[in-house]
Amino acid sequence: MPSDEDLEKDSDASAFSCTQCGECCIGYGGTFVTDQDIEKISIHIGVDPHRFVEKFCCLSGGRPVLAQQVDGHCVFWDKVCTIHPVKPKLCRKWPYIESLLIDFDNWKIMASMCPGINKKAPPHGIKAMVKKTRPSRDP
Ligand code: SF4
Ligand code: SF4
Repeated sequence: MPSDEDLEKDSDASAFSCTQCGECCIGYGGTFVTDQDIEKISIHIGVDPHRFVEKFCCLSGGRPVLAQQVDGHCVFWDKVCTIHPVKPKLCRKWPYIESLLIDFDNWKIMASMCPGINKKAPPHGIKAMVKKTRPSRDP
């Protein structure tokens, strides 16, 4: 039986490979930012973390989400993600979002929006990747 590590290696490449199309960085996606995200991004771009929400976010349900540019792209998009090394946890975890993948049918729905997702990827491989990217293992 393959180990979780084997499944992770096999599944990551075959289940998801980002084409860097930027489709997930446009539109109202509700990219929530945590306090840790705010701290890291603020240091990276050299702004006061206490001003970050006011300058770069709007609120959704009382929680900060990244604001959009006039064309709908994320405030940090400029042909590429300009904060890639410190992008929010939600962006780093995509598409292995545990709360969404409680129902595996959501994998196919996500694939219809993200060309990097292989809609035929086996559930066991996806499960292994979800496990790998659980919050407790995030940096
Ligand atoms: S939509 Fe998918 S393939 Fe395109 S940039 Fe986002 S994660 Fe990558
Ligand atoms: S932070 Fe980067 S990866 Fe996340 S939505 Fe904005 S531009 Fe895209």
